[in-house]
Amino acid sequence: MERKFFVGGNWKMNGDKKFINELVECLKKCPIEQSVEVVVAPPTIYLDYTKSIVPQNVQVAAQNSYKVAKGAFTGEISPAMIKDIGIDWVIIGHSERRNVFGENDNLIAEKVAHALETGLSVIACIGEKLEEREAGQTEAVVFQQVKAIAGKIGEWKNVVIAYEPVWAIGTGKTATPQQAQEVHQKLREYIKKEISEKVAKEIRIIYGGSVTGANAKELAKEKDIDGFLVGGASLKPEFIDIIKANK
Ligand code: PGA
Repeated sequence: MERKFFVGGNWKMNGDKKFINELVECLKKCPIEQSVEVVVAPPTIYLDYTKSIVPQNVQVAAQNSYKVAKGAFTGEISPAMIKDIGIDWVIIGHSERRNVFGENDNLIAEKVAHALETGLSVIACIGEKLEEREAGQTEAVVFQQVKAIAGKIGEWKNVVIAYEPVWAIGTGKTATPQQAQEVHQKLREYIKKEISEKVAKEIRIIYGGSVTGANAKELAKEKDIDGFLVGGASLKPEFIDIIKANK
């Protein structure tokens, strides 16, 4: 099965209605090929609004969701609520959730499992910090992050893995295509060994961390890079160039 090229735009805590209108206008002008899946993730409060104005070939994702359907969890939203407003995707385990808000592998795995059970598709983020890379622990860290999720889920068909080295996020320091490919390939080998050959073949592993219109094409040439999760550049017209990077 061909792995469909996937481009996610993670708007993080940016934008207002006026800005979102402009971004969506820009997306509407972009002829998105059938061979590319595009998903944008606005802040929670603009999910419904964004969903109401995006063109049909652009899907919407939440940036986070909690591990249960409802209850006394002030400030959280559940996968059931995301589904209820007609949204099919959620990003879980972004490095900012891990490192700014202290989410650990176990909580992230529980949240992935619950989102999948609710019928959402999940962009599950993993990635090593600079000191971990420098200590030669990149593989150990990303394998452990996948293992935690594998311990809680059985079905991977609605999961996209986003490999985002923390040192490359928002820093302007992109991993080189070789550095990214190396980790993607190792991840696929790990998945083949620990989960299954079928999952390894079919799962999309996308790269994130300072992806721009200028570097996306080179990264997209790598065999195991199936797309991107884009932060800063997803707020700019160059996002269109990233959407077209697989050509
Ligand atoms: P960046 O963010 O593209 O701004 O580095 C990527 C991300 O956090 O998903």
